Amino acid sequence: MEFYRTPPTAGTVQQMIRTLKKRYPFLHSFTAGKSVQGRKLTALTLGNLHDVNLMVGGVHAQEWITTLLLFRLIEALCKAIEKERLFCQINVSQTLLRRGLLVLPLLNPDGMEIAMGRAEPVREYRGEPLEQCRRRWNANAHGVDLNHNFDAGFALCRAAERRAGICSPGPRQFGGLYPESEPETRALVHLCRGFSVHSAYAFHAQGEEIYYRYGTNTPEISYYMAQLLAHLSGYRAADPTGLASHAGFKDWFLEAFGRPAFTIEVGRGENPLPLEDLDGIWDGLKEALATMTLL
Ligand SMILES: [Zn+2]
Repeated sequence: MEFYRTPPTAGTVQQMIRTLKKRYPFLHSFTAGKSVQGRKLTALTLGNLHDVNLMVGGVHAQEWITTLLLFRLIEALCKAIEKERLFCQINVSQTLLRRGLLVLPLLNPDGMEIAMGRAEPVREYRGEPLEQCRRRWNANAHGVDLNHNFDAGFALCRAAERRAGICSPGPRQFGGLYPESEPETRALVHLCRGFSVHSAYAFHAQGEEIYYRYGTNTPEISYYMAQLLAHLSGYRAADPTGLASHAGFKDWFLEAFGRPAFTIEVGRGENPLPLEDLDGIWDGLKEALATMTLL
């Protein structure tokens, strides 16, 4: 499908959602919030919404391949349901009736538009001129890195940013002045509070790693889930280092709920990973993705 042959835009994502909903009437969607520049943060749902697993992609602007990957998954699940076929040995219809799936494929549409030269940040930021750093832009339109903006070890994250010389809004790694300062962060927090989320998976690129623990509230099952997903994908269960060690979504989810949450670093190479990597990432990860709907 054409959608997978170009980097996604806020517009093509909305178009793809409309196309899929038309084709698969059991696929539903709702607006989970709006970005700084007013773009919709659309969530897709399948199955039982009283008990769900959550998947989030497109957190960092350069990691748009994760948005495409989540659409591949949604499409594969929808096809399996429609044709009453198994997907990776799993009876998807039955599985999703037990526990549904909530997918937010693009948390940071503004950042993606800025990175691709179609939008401008809305605040002054110091450092290199915008044209020079679009290709490094990971943040939202406020110049805040959304995965540094969650309320878990926020002060530790800020201290690490300062030590690295990151003290103000910019293309990446500035976590904001206070936790949940950004509408995209608040939308995701709100989503987690509004649903009964069993496990949460945030997709990033790259490194072929699975991060599964944070702080003292990580459930014991997280380790074994990470081992299983690592076994199925060939990825490595690991701990993040440096500036990615605090204030991320999975950190907050683990601390707030004490239920499993993971960061999945898909693919290998330099961001943005090229479109040609999508097929290989999908092939390597699809059994693990299918299994996430079971766990
Ligand atoms: Zn990332």
